[in-house]
Amino acid sequence: MSRLEFLEKRYTYIHIGFLILMLIHLEFNQWIGKSSDISLNKFLLAAALAVMGIKFLVIKKGLLQKYHLYICFKIMELLYVGGLIYQDQVVLVFEPLVYLLILIEIFSVSANLNSLFYYFIPLIVSSVMMLGKDFFLLSNLVNTIFLILSNALFIYIVNSTIHEIEKNSDKHKELLIQAQKKNEELLKIKEHMELVNKELEQQKEEMRKTSESFRNNVAELFILKETSSYIGSILEIQQLLELVCDMIMGILGVDTCSIIVYDEKYETLDFHIKSIYSHEVIENFKVNLSNSSLQKRIKDKEILINNNCRDKKYSFLEGRDVGSFVAVPLYKGNKSYGLILAEHTLENYFSTSNTDLFKAVSMQVAVAIENAKLYEQMEEMAERDGLTNVYNRMYLQKIMPKLIESAKIHNQSISIGIFDIDHFKVFNDTYGHLFGDEVLKAIAHLAQKKVDAYHGIVARYGGEEFVMIFPNVTLSEAAVIIEDLRKEIEHFTLTKEDVSAKITASFGVSGFPEVVDNVESLLRTADDAMYMSKRQGRNRVTVASVNGNNAMD
Ligand code: GH3
Ligand code: MG
Ligand code: MG
Repeated sequence: MSRLEFLEKRYTYIHIGFLILMLIHLEFNQWIGKSSDISLNKFLLAAALAVMGIKFLVIKKGLLQKYHLYICFKIMELLYVGGLIYQDQVVLVFEPLVYLLILIEIFSVSANLNSLFYYFIPLIVSSVMMLGKDFFLLSNLVNTIFLILSNALFIYIVNSTIHEIEKNSDKHKELLIQAQKKNEELLKIKEHMELVNKELEQQKEEMRKTSESFRNNVAELFILKETSSYIGSILEIQQLLELVCDMIMGILGVDTCSIIVYDEKYETLDFHIKSIYSHEVIENFKVNLSNSSLQKRIKDKEILINNNCRDKKYSFLEGRDVGSFVAVPLYKGNKSYGLILAEHTLENYFSTSNTDLFKAVSMQVAVAIENAKLYEQMEEMAERDGLTNVYNRMYLQKIMPKLIESAKIHNQSISIGIFDIDHFKVFNDTYGHLFGDEVLKAIAHLAQKKVDAYHGIVARYGGEEFVMIFPNVTLSEAAVIIEDLRKEIEHFTLTKEDVSAKITASFGVSGFPEVVDNVESLLRTADDAMYMSKRQGRNRVTVASVNGNNAMD
């Protein structure tokens, strides 16, 4: 509600009050007989009340300032008051009072000077009419003075009310300004709080990152400490790889961790896998990996992180719900040993902060694998004969009891052949020791080829004496195989720097369970058989039997 509407509403109440008073006054005058003809006055008062009623509704509907309604109402108000003034001297006191009241309204509320003139028309008209009457009669003068005084008093009251309203309004304005200021201050505080909050959020994020990196560092140190302590005991490489898989699973919370070790010698992959998935799924993974592009990665030296691998179908991930994976190569210098593969169902699981951890772990694991491989080589070297590269006597003594034990457990045969090169001393004496060495190498190679075909082993037993073991081969089968070898040696010619030599060897064969049932007897009976071959003219095979040795012809 505007200020004009507010004031007009109040004035309307006052007008209605005055009009009702005037009506009562009129009725009273008629009743005491002071005034007789009042019908027109009554009509004017009733009309004025009706106008006031309509005005009240117009204000309520908020239409007062539209369609010049405000001016229309003012003109109507002035007209009916002017009419009343002119009509009856009896109501003179009230009528000009209302008239003045309306004028004060106009002056105080509306400052529109253009329309002011129209408001004075009824006043001028009624004043002129008043002057036409007996204005200078004493009673009229008294009335006029009373009128002026009451007007002055009324103006004073209205003015002070308006002043009070304005004062209140100023107070409200001030309060409003203060409230606005407070509001602005609050807004500033809010902005400041938001800023502080943002800073706190940033600090929180930094703290989170620091804590994460700290956790990673601790995890890294832990893994490094554990792996380093295991590297010392290189024999436990299998356990180390299992442990690394366990630690990566535990610390990074991945679903599957695999360490794939590449065996250069046999070109095979050795898997160490920890996974939440079933055995079948993992077996499938091994098969898929062998045919996948990841195998090529083994030769690479860069860490591969794929945080959205559902987009691209990797064959080695088939059967598992994998959102992200990281493949870390295991290498040292130029040598590649395999890779570590960690997977998680979630996408964007791995961050660059994990890379350092993986790098450190992979380096440790690569060192461990290298050490293990070196140890393996050393161990193998210790088991081999330096000249011929077949196993040595030490290894033979170590492996034979095991092989015979295994044959016993599995109820299988095991056969053994011993041979000694005939007149070997002649090669040394005729062509020199080096040529003799070449003879040993060539014959050992032929024997190796023969045993390889039957998953057997060959070992140098003495100077030019060799032992062959054929697991799961019967005595009669072994006799045939060894006769074959004898013929091969017989037909073989060793040529070295213009020197050609023909070589023969004498063989003895024995077998479990056909001939003997213990290690010592097996070797002894074979050796006896071999000496029988020597005695019977060399370049032949003698098969040991329970009753003695039988030569093969
Ligand atoms: P037999 O037919 O009776 O076995 O005659 P043999 O000459 O082969 O037998 P003998 O035991 O008399 O000779 C073995 C020789 O083998 C003696 C030794 O000098 C030689 N010898 C042993 N080890 C090596 C070796 O590593 N290299 C060479 N070149 N000769 C060796
Ligand atoms: Mg000999
Ligand atoms: Mg000999």
